[in-house]
Amino acid sequence: MDEKIMTAPASHDRQPDISVVVPLFNEEESLPELAAWIERVMRENGFTYEIIFVNDGSTDSSWDVVRSLADKNQCVHGVSFRRNYGKSPALNTGFARARGRVVITMDADLQDSPDEIPELYRMIAEDGYDLVSGYKQKRYDPLSKTIPTKLFNATARRVSGIRNLHDFNCGLKAYRSEVVKHIEVYGDMHRYIPYLAKLAGFTRIGEKVVQHRARKYGKTKFGLDRFVNGYLDLATLWFTGKFGGKPMHFFGLMGSLMFLLGFIAAAVVGGVKLYRMWHGLSYTLVTDSPYFFIALTMMILGSQFFLAGFIGELVARNSPRRNDYEIEDNI
Ligand code: UDP
Ligand code: MG
Repeated sequence: MDEKIMTAPASHDRQPDISVVVPLFNEEESLPELAAWIERVMRENGFTYEIIFVNDGSTDSSWDVVRSLADKNQCVHGVSFRRNYGKSPALNTGFARARGRVVITMDADLQDSPDEIPELYRMIAEDGYDLVSGYKQKRYDPLSKTIPTKLFNATARRVSGIRNLHDFNCGLKAYRSEVVKHIEVYGDMHRYIPYLAKLAGFTRIGEKVVQHRARKYGKTKFGLDRFVNGYLDLATLWFTGKFGGKPMHFFGLMGSLMFLLGFIAAAVVGGVKLYRMWHGLSYTLVTDSPYFFIALTMMILGSQFFLAGFIGELVARNSPRRNDYEIEDNI
């Protein structure tokens, strides 16, 4: 990925308590206010911290603003993509650079409040959560967004099995640093980070009701296509989480069942004809029966599924990550 690195975090520094990762795309007006607010909260609570702004190819002066913020405060760092890749790639890049014990993500548009940071930090550091997701119980967004969001979260809860989350896609989240180092957020998968964490074996996932505010400057970067894509991504995660390493278990089962049903149906159609011929009864051609064609289609589809399973296995077998396991401890 193309990126300019402005201030590489100094590796000899002590590990800060908190890394705040902020993905941003055309948010020039909000940034100074956001940075000042985060700095004030950190100072008041005595946290050591770093802020990592990830500029996702902004076309306004956001990057210049980040530069000037970094000049004023050495805790402010920034990374800038050459073009716009999306919120997930921005988060992933921020996660790779974060050095803090606790990593907190926050949107750049001032819809999330930095005042939540101390309590989020406490829930990770003291209550032992791996991940705490914000829950915008009272939202300041248009109805066209809040109603589909409810449906979306209900589906995500069912599919992921994380029953206690109401707001998967909240931009304000806190993580134990291991979590962000062991998940890969790509495409549009930032909507499902709790699910990604669960698939990586981090199951202590909590929620905190957070304040939400209306967007003060600029406009939202996501349209209604977020819901279509959101559902497709959920299907992908469910499939890869369950069968990613063993695709034949999915395609093989589907294919065999389909082929078998088709085969039995074809045998019945053929059998009936032979029986009637044998007993001198009137009979029709097998091709006159619609069941014959249904049976044929099922056998063809069944074989296709089976072949997809073989191809899937070849792909999975060639993955360099096929033997990457999440190892928690070693003695
Ligand atoms: N964002 C980003 N890259 C994108 C789109 C959005 O980094 O391609 C950032 C954006 O600047 C903001 C956050 O992701 O900090 C959430 O975006 P937005 O506020 O538009 O989403 P909404 O609040 O409407 O869900
Ligand atoms: Mg927003």
